Amino acid sequence: MKMTERQFTLIKKQLEKLTSQECFYQKKLEGIDIDAIKDQSDFEKLPFTWKGDLREAYPLGLKAVPDEKIVRIHSSSGTTGTPVIIPYTQKDVDDWAVMFARCYEMAGVTNLDRIHITPGYGLWTAGIGFQLGAERMGAMTIPMGPGNTDKQLRMMMDMESTVLCATSSYALLLAEEIAKRGIGDRIKLKKGIIGSERWGEKMRRRIADELGVSLYDIYGLTEVYGPGIGINCDHNTGMHYWDDYLYFEIVDPKTGEPLPDGEVGELVITTLCKEGAPLIRYRTHDLTRIIPGECPCGSKFPRIDVILGRTDDMVKVKGVNIFPSQIDEMLKDIEGASSEYQVMIDHLDGKDILTLFVEIEKDANAYAMEHILGDAFKAKIGIAAIIKPVSIGELPRSEKKSTRVFDNRY
Ligand code: ZN
Repeated sequence: MKMTERQFTLIKKQLEKLTSQECFYQKKLEGIDIDAIKDQSDFEKLPFTWKGDLREAYPLGLKAVPDEKIVRIHSSSGTTGTPVIIPYTQKDVDDWAVMFARCYEMAGVTNLDRIHITPGYGLWTAGIGFQLGAERMGAMTIPMGPGNTDKQLRMMMDMESTVLCATSSYALLLAEEIAKRGIGDRIKLKKGIIGSERWGEKMRRRIADELGVSLYDIYGLTEVYGPGIGINCDHNTGMHYWDDYLYFEIVDPKTGEPLPDGEVGELVITTLCKEGAPLIRYRTHDLTRIIPGECPCGSKFPRIDVILGRTDDMVKVKGVNIFPSQIDEMLKDIEGASSEYQVMIDHLDGKDILTLFVEIEKDANAYAMEHILGDAFKAKIGIAAIIKPVSIGELPRSEKKSTRVFDNRY
């Protein structure tokens, strides 16, 4: 993605400020001549910021302004021990609200809507972000938080909620509960704004059908404001993101080299005007791509694809990056193939060999399937694979996508 002049100026200004005062980035960028950064390619030589760096800065090491400017903190869930604390100034909170309100507007939500918010409130950025954006836009909010299905449904009916904000799994749970109780005609929902986890096309269709709503994917992460930094429009051609607040790069997760628009890699984010805890080249571990060209909706905001997975799930074979969601997607379109598969990667006689085990339906012809799957794999992924069709139920079942890929090379 080509950096605009405005983005470059803002980044440069931020780098100058951060290196001239005692803070996280003064240490991080020590020895780098900021004056010598003249263009995008110089910027791309700056070191990345990793989640581990942020964790090491615990508790308030990321703070880049004096104490009196900080109005709140948020924290990302610390699944691996020490959490990350992100301090916010009033301007950061306001900017986040502006971005989030834009998300609602992109989804066609107006101040006449009634917004039912089920993500949690508290240290993490979910519920409060949905709240901020809705209030900024002037819509009535119903700040439910998660849980208590009876109360959720009762409020949804009595308050005549028109917009549901939820994670995909909670939206599905509510949809199923509404169907089970036969109260669909008393539910006034028109739109669902779904955040924070990767979800498949199948689940999307189920939620949309059961609730009778249009669905929108909202993107964000606590380290970079929170949810609300991108969302898809009605054309559903990826998520627009707010490039006046953020600079997005896509890099090869293994080498860190910038990738051309359209290619899948890791999303790296630089904040352009964040005060409390600015971030330079932050590695999100989210896999996506820049969608080239303009959206049919006419919006000038650029787009990234929906999040295709996490870099931890990715493997590199014969110079090609492969991740499980590509295989999910490939299998979805092949008649006779189930969604269950396993990938084995071995190193034999000096070369990498990829074997794809796929469960096929009982009446499918294994020989024919081997060819169909082999061709599809080559076309979609770009390298050859050995295909081993197996019967339904033969492969172990697992909740986690990443356990479907076994790399035996190291
Ligand atoms: Zn659009």
